Amino acid sequence: MAYDENNIFAKILRGEIPCTKLYEDEYALAFPDIRPQAPTHVLVIPKGKYISIADFGAKASPAEMTGFFRAVSLVAKQLGVEDTGYRLICNAGPDSLQEVPHFHAHILGGRALGHLLVPG
Ligand code: 5GP
Repeated sequence: MAYDENNIFAKILRGEIPCTKLYEDEYALAFPDIRPQAPTHVLVIPKGKYISIADFGAKASPAEMTGFFRAVSLVAKQLGVEDTGYRLICNAGPDSLQEVPHFHAHILGGRALGHLLVPG
């Protein structure tokens, strides 16, 4: 599957769709999820064109990988959920219901999140 240049996060990276930038560096951009599922719900996306964690893991450079995951931990700290705790979710492919085909991590926190999976 080829990377879709018109996916929503590609448009956000190009500045064609607005977002509230919470963090940005050469490797990653973080912004609030438009449909928050927890008091804290932020998306962190790599600047490179990767469809999913599988694509990222297979093709990203070590610098891109380090930069991305360092950004995730920095954003969690910046959001104030490092001590209370948070959950990272990276949906990948149909069974996960991944909606946007640009690799991203959800940072969820701000309340007790319950068990990992809920029915449905
Ligand atoms: P996925 O299901 O692909 O892991 O998650 C994609 C996420 O992107 C969803 O939680 C959805 O609410 C969020 N989202 C979709 N479109 C937009 C948008 O235009 N702006 C922002 N900030 N979030 C979006």
